[in-house]
Amino acid sequence: MISIQNYYGIVDDEVIHKLYNVSKKLFNKRMVHINSTFVGGGVAEMLSTFIPLMNDIGVEAEWRIQYGVPDFFAITKEFHNALQGDNITLSEHKRRAYLLANERFSTFTRLHHDLIIIHDPQPLPLINYYIKKQPWIWRCHIDLSHPNKELWAYLKKFIIKYDMVIVSNEKYIQDDLPIQFKIINPAISPLSTKNMELSDKEIEGVLQKYKIPTDKKIITQISRFDKWKDPEGVIELFKIVKQKCKDCRLVLCGSMATDDPEGIEIYKRVQKKASSLIESGDIILITVENNFLVNALQRASAVIIQKSIKEGFGLTVTEALWKGAAVVASRVGGIPLQITDGVSGYLLDPQDVDGFAERIIYLLQNESKAKEFGIAGKEHVRKNFLMTRLLLDYMNLMNDIF
Ligand code: UDP
Repeated sequence: MISIQNYYGIVDDEVIHKLYNVSKKLFNKRMVHINSTFVGGGVAEMLSTFIPLMNDIGVEAEWRIQYGVPDFFAITKEFHNALQGDNITLSEHKRRAYLLANERFSTFTRLHHDLIIIHDPQPLPLINYYIKKQPWIWRCHIDLSHPNKELWAYLKKFIIKYDMVIVSNEKYIQDDLPIQFKIINPAISPLSTKNMELSDKEIEGVLQKYKIPTDKKIITQISRFDKWKDPEGVIELFKIVKQKCKDCRLVLCGSMATDDPEGIEIYKRVQKKASSLIESGDIILITVENNFLVNALQRASAVIIQKSIKEGFGLTVTEALWKGAAVVASRVGGIPLQITDGVSGYLLDPQDVDGFAERIIYLLQNESKAKEFGIAGKEHVRKNFLMTRLLLDYMNLMNDIF
């Protein structure tokens, strides 16, 4: 198992010393994190490394996954979209199903911990079904800059019971809540199968296994098939790139999250839009969930795209930067915290399809610029977005609370 000791040589010694120093004050404190999927998406990705490391350092941490029927996840996906600004009809049925799933989960989930962290809207109403004996924190990973007003008014009734809300960006702080907001940026594990070093041979092996040829330069977007990630826009811009630069191929890699029922529908739309290029082998769509594959793709690609319309933080960008990849991404959500335009990648407005195409072509043709971006991007991630920093943020938070 990976432990804090494995971070020697990756992060500065000072960081490791701080972790041990802060953790001793938290001996015997128990925290639990609750979210609604164990696979797919950034939250599951983070918790799967964060929880074992917390335990390793001596703070008892648990992870519970909320169960739900497909109807519940369809409703909470609508909530997710509406929190990012979509319209929603908040019917009686949706409210009832939302509460019922939470009430059921509470009947078989005992929470004796000293701190409870609830991730995203799915388990938010759980707080209704417990006697509140400890601090509860709502950790929202979504872009809350313009939430749908009706939904926000409804969810506020639950949020108001919490002691704190954690978001990824100061733009997501809501003034109409008398609750402390805190900003904590997400982080990645440099040692996980998704992010660890791979040899050229390993990369080649993985790509071969998934039938991804390397005879042309690879451009990749790794993201759930979700409208906010704009996979259809990626197809559109790739068509422009392809006109000027024949020697390239697009890979769209998007596994399906268990709490995201829209994925299949969007995948089918993308498939239709890209059909002729899929047939010619110039576009490859992948739906398998495999960390080695994501790792190999991020390392083998000449350019990584993240053309999101909205993005809570964008861990895929962090992962790509960590691998020294050249990234062309939208100037939305947490992405500008990660990339300085023209220094460690390119940032564009998501609507600027021509701009995206132009930057991608430039990087395909200028390997030295791509390398320069890669070096700057990796160092920025090392300093700011590795798991040790997230551990420290949570431990400092706990120290403030207890
Ligand atoms: N991911 C993956 N396989 C895929 C698509 C995404 O493993 O096919 C992972 C990706 O590597 C990242 C996470 O899912 O760790 C996505 O996090 P991000 O913050 O980018 O977006 P979210 O899905 O949470 O909106």
